[in-house]
Amino acid sequence: MSYKHNPSLIEKIAESLKIIPGLHDEEEASIDRLTEPGDLTKYPPPEQWNDWNEYEAKGWARKEKKNYSIVPTTCFNCESACGLLAYVDRTTGNVRKFEGNPYHPGSRGRNCAKGPATINQINDTDRIMYPMKRKGERGSGEWERASWDEVLDDIAGKIRKALQEERNDEIVYHVGRPGHEGYMDRVLKGWGVDGHNSHTNICSSGARFGYNLWQGYDRPSPDHANSKFILLISAHLESGHYFNPHAQRIMEGMMKGAKLAVMDPRLSNTASMSNYWMPTYPGTEAAALLAMAKVILEEGLYNRKYMENWVNWEEYLEAKHPNLDVTFENFIEQTIEEYKEYTPEFAEAETGVKAETIIEVAREIGMAGTRFACHNWRSAGSGNLGGWAVARTLQFLSVLTGAVGTVGGTSPSAWNKFHPQFFDVPPAHKFWNELHYPVEFPLAFHEMSQLLPHFLKEKRGKLAVYFTRVFNPVWTYPDGFSWIEALSDKRMIDMHIALTPTWNETSYFADYVLPMGHASERHDINSYETHSGMWIAFRQPVLREYARREGTPFEFTYDVNPGEVWEEDEFWIELSWRIDPDGSLGVRKHFESPYRKGEKINVDEYYQYIFENVKGLPEAAEKEGMKPLEYMRKYGAFEVEKSSYEKNLNEVSTDDLKGSNTDKKTRVISKDGKNVGIEVDGKAVVGFPTPSRRQEFYSKTMVDWKWPEYDIPKYIKSHVHEEEMDRDKGDYPLVPTFRLPVLIHSRSGNAKWLTEIANRNPIWMHPEDAAKFDLTDGDMIKVNTEIGYFVDRVWVTEGMKPGVVACSHHLGRWRRPQDQEGNRWATNTVSIDKEGTGWKMSVLQGIRPFKSTDNDTSRIFWSDGGVHQNITFPVHPDPISGMHCWHQKVRLENVSPEDRYGDIFVDTAKSQEVYRKWMEMTRPAPGPDNLRRPLWFARVNKPTIDKFYLSDKSNEKT
Ligand code: SF4
Repeated sequence: MSYKHNPSLIEKIAESLKIIPGLHDEEEASIDRLTEPGDLTKYPPPEQWNDWNEYEAKGWARKEKKNYSIVPTTCFNCESACGLLAYVDRTTGNVRKFEGNPYHPGSRGRNCAKGPATINQINDTDRIMYPMKRKGERGSGEWERASWDEVLDDIAGKIRKALQEERNDEIVYHVGRPGHEGYMDRVLKGWGVDGHNSHTNICSSGARFGYNLWQGYDRPSPDHANSKFILLISAHLESGHYFNPHAQRIMEGMMKGAKLAVMDPRLSNTASMSNYWMPTYPGTEAAALLAMAKVILEEGLYNRKYMENWVNWEEYLEAKHPNLDVTFENFIEQTIEEYKEYTPEFAEAETGVKAETIIEVAREIGMAGTRFACHNWRSAGSGNLGGWAVARTLQFLSVLTGAVGTVGGTSPSAWNKFHPQFFDVPPAHKFWNELHYPVEFPLAFHEMSQLLPHFLKEKRGKLAVYFTRVFNPVWTYPDGFSWIEALSDKRMIDMHIALTPTWNETSYFADYVLPMGHASERHDINSYETHSGMWIAFRQPVLREYARREGTPFEFTYDVNPGEVWEEDEFWIELSWRIDPDGSLGVRKHFESPYRKGEKINVDEYYQYIFENVKGLPEAAEKEGMKPLEYMRKYGAFEVEKSSYEKNLNEVSTDDLKGSNTDKKTRVISKDGKNVGIEVDGKAVVGFPTPSRRQEFYSKTMVDWKWPEYDIPKYIKSHVHEEEMDRDKGDYPLVPTFRLPVLIHSRSGNAKWLTEIANRNPIWMHPEDAAKFDLTDGDMIKVNTEIGYFVDRVWVTEGMKPGVVACSHHLGRWRRPQDQEGNRWATNTVSIDKEGTGWKMSVLQGIRPFKSTDNDTSRIFWSDGGVHQNITFPVHPDPISGMHCWHQKVRLENVSPEDRYGDIFVDTAKSQEVYRKWMEMTRPAPGPDNLRRPLWFARVNKPTIDKFYLSDKSNEKT
């Protein structure tokens, strides 16, 4: 560990009396987990899951016995994929409830409120049961029922024609909530299209980019349970991401003595439980982090051994200080010099957090050493111009303390995530879709999906077939009216297919709306970095497994799902066969069974193959006399590795070493032009997947790609920096990057329990600010953005930093009178009218009780569905990471008599202007060697290497 200074007398006494943890022990005591998977003994034992009796809670005190078949699956209401147990009532054959799966290593039997609420989603009386086809104009709200055969043939015909005419880039699959581990990448490769688009650039690209620059891995995986100090740059436990798996481990760490610091201008639930709430002014977090780095460097609290071995400090000195001797001492000296401006006082002036607190937290981090855990997800990383610098400066602290991949430190997520092996891997495609990775954003960490409507309007391309899956950009994205304009125009999007379990604002503008199953109605595999171990979980359609257990015949999942609800896996297999019925396009062969030559693969075989190739799973299954697939059907999850630390120290394989070269100076080991490892302390180890194989303090990539001013971790002033505000005119930074913890992006609208708990999104405002506008709780306020305005109410609270306002996203759902009824627990009925170059939305009616087969629908007591703020935001693409910068400079004003609650106005001509202004900040490709993008950066659905070079005229038809 890094903490080397001698303890003071007071510390010694406090440690011996166990008043404080033994921070000076050389040997760390092992810290047990709170529970191991399977420890929650009050759960029904798995041997009784096929036939479980318990008393009906509602039947009390009659002692009414219920007989259940318990089927494991996983939750789909955030990315963490916690384990669920579905209780199928054996009398009715219906799912009665969901509880946690104690055998799931990530969630260990626990769920947040959203897990059990899956029952609301499957029983939603408004859900879509049959394929629907547009009848009138797109967006007119007229629909008719269609057959799956008709739908599949129509879509397949369009795709086949596009492939035959080599319009491969016109086929696009755009996903919101991913999951589907590698499945779609394989499908799109099988079709030979660069057709993957995601929501990542409105979600997490900022932080990913910052982490990637350091270590070639884009997500952090903190080992909270074993840490001594935890620092979260967090809207609320990662904005609801990893909400439950991380929360339980943060609690575990704190119960063992860890301290928690949270940087957030809002007193979130997490901040309220912290030892240090640091309400930073939005976008200034990096200033505080660099001030902490300075304290750690100056006070010698850094981990010299780790840094000497694992930081590319020699490269830094050679590039920036060629006249100095290349010694570690010179590196430290120069680094202190680099950050001399970042005094705690400077940080206090920027952030509004006291200098003493910054110093105290910095020392705590230094003392925690290798047991310092931290996380930045969304939040500041996704809010600000240059937000990626927050993750980069945060990782700097992990590197300084040597807390990378250690017990109680923070690992790259890839070390804790299982990657499945597929029965067939189609070759890389030969296209570069400029709509996804345009030349202006060579470093963009993911697809520039938020700019799609603008690109289509500029005629950069068009779409022949556009799938949206669990994806609702009209509502979740900024600039939703530009999306409506693009989606309504057949010249831009010829066919739009919405794959969704429930009606949403984007599906209203589709040609087909195809009902897909909820969590418990489809297959999937999951593996996420919830803690230091590695696991794989099986999301299985519950009624399919129940039918199998009961011996009820079925062929496809839709045979057992409600109505004609399909699951995606089977949909894509079926569609792929219809695209290429005779195999002449080379598509069909990728969807043939590995076990029955030339025949269509079925979904059981797909997962059978994967589970047969999970390390340790076949053996674990065999011990119980089962096949791997049977094991996963029974338990729903498998722990691949109990813990996974310091994988940079894994030895380079003998195969890779054979015929390799080791660079005499850098000690980087390469083979066949590829770096495979690095020699450290005389050992050939794999290191990190960066050009230097080390943690990159100095980024030659940033220099090579025209951003030399960010060659080392720096603080970048946000577009909502105080300097941008005219306070006299009512300017405020608006923080829209948090959500109330029971919400699910755009998918809580059909979960009655969740909507009952949280159904409106007022503007959080400090009493001092409310006084300036003469407002009290519940008063209305007009929030002007760059492109329009929205009218909301205020919630006056001391839980908000003065001078900053905030509003939860994921409320303010709507439908127009002509739209299909859906999500009525949460949707306002609105009118949308064209006004000049803009759009006006007004609330016609709030939420009302309604009659249905669920008696609760007539008991709805709330009427306020909140306000759709995102639609009033323009696009703000960060010129480097490509991340949409969510925070807004808004001008607040008191309402006039004509303003109504929920009013929204947006001028899409202004949206275009703001888009162009941000585009001017970019520094387009090419980079070195005429590259479009650094070869070492990851890219979804990677094409052949030649397509990375601009000189290759990559989009020429091949
Ligand atoms: S944390 Fe996420 S996956 Fe887990 S129960 Fe909650 S919503 Fe579901």
